Amino acid sequence: MRAIVVKPPKPGVEINDVKIDEDKLSTIGLVKIKVLENGICGTDREIVSGKRTSVKPPAGKDELILGHEAIGIVEVGGYGLKEGELVMPINKRGCGKCLNCLVGRPDFCETGEGLVAGTKGLDGFMREYLYDDPKYLVKIPLAIKDIAILAQPLADIEKSVEAILTTQKRVPIWTCDDGTFNCKKALVVGTGPTGILFSLILRTYGFQVWIANRRELLDNEKEILEEPGIIFYNSENGYDNLVKSEGKFDLIIDTSGASASIMQHLVPLLQINGVLGLFGFPRYDNFSLDYKTVQDFVINNRIIIGLDNGQKTHFQQAVIHLASWKSLWPNTTSKMITKVISISNEREVISSLREKLPGEIKVIIRWE
Ligand code: NAP
Ligand code: ZN
Ligand code: ZN
Repeated sequence: MRAIVVKPPKPGVEINDVKIDEDKLSTIGLVKIKVLENGICGTDREIVSGKRTSVKPPAGKDELILGHEAIGIVEVGGYGLKEGELVMPINKRGCGKCLNCLVGRPDFCETGEGLVAGTKGLDGFMREYLYDDPKYLVKIPLAIKDIAILAQPLADIEKSVEAILTTQKRVPIWTCDDGTFNCKKALVVGTGPTGILFSLILRTYGFQVWIANRRELLDNEKEILEEPGIIFYNSENGYDNLVKSEGKFDLIIDTSGASASIMQHLVPLLQINGVLGLFGFPRYDNFSLDYKTVQDFVINNRIIIGLDNGQKTHFQQAVIHLASWKSLWPNTTSKMITKVISISNEREVISSLREKLPGEIKVIIRWE
């Protein structure tokens, strides 16, 4: 079967034939899925460029099948899944040892030994066929087939918002006087797919949302933000003007995955009892705070929280949100997939895995 493979830590990516033992796989309770599409994400590109340090092929192999975003069609069903149903595989799998993993929450794995498809110790989803345990498969309704690939990155964000709202239960009242979040202000840093999805979720929960980048937006990016009423701020010259006009923020999320030093500019923008959520993986630089900022942080009960990886309940929640956004914000959802490349166009597949082009939101590889 054909698959997209990497040989970490070496940079590069290839489309190759890989061997799998189909007879063995079909006898151990696994469902056979024909992959229809893969989404390309920043993590795939970091792996292809050789910059992801934690990437690891399965035990005993020097090659890893890439990809953690996929939708497929059940070809040989059973175990509650029928032939012809659309499914999405979950990328993070438990360590099989700690209690969080044993109850289906490997996002809080305590041994650090959990496997992640396409990243750590487990082959990914960029291939013609998958064999998987139904436990790790999420049903996808046909009505959202065109945007369903977004359910994987969105699941991580669903988990993040759940973690933030749970954490904020520490504050006796963190809602407005009508019980909503309508008076709460959120700032999302980064206008990539995750920054946009984060902003959409926060609008769904009722927050006022600003999204920032250190450049002006392209037309397609502006159009995506219009319907949900997300306000853009150009942070090229810092955040002083934003704070002067809007005040401080109850919630700030960094999705830039760029410089760690961004965080020290964000901490002083936090409102009393506010939350700074770290979602992106910075690739360089440091983050330090002076003693006055730290004192201010302590006195005002602020919090910094790491946000990682959604599980099955979050995938299911993501599916519901995508379905509702198709009605609420049809122009936005119709612009999220910026390119579909056929697997037969090898050259373009490889170049899209190497480089993100301006204005690109989500690129899909389609297996014909
Ligand atoms: P992306 O497409 O690279 O988006 C990053 C965005 O940040 C881009 O719009 C980029 O602008 C912008 N940016 C860069 N430097 C900035 C700065 N100084 N100020 C403001 N904006 C800045 O990546 P993505 O797919 O959205 O992912 C974002 C990060 O989240 C990555 O680090 C990824 O690995 C991480 N991630 C985390 C999880 C999790 O569970 N925690 C899950 C998925 C992804 P340009 O468009 O101009 O480049
Ligand atoms: Zn990803
Ligand atoms: Zn575990």
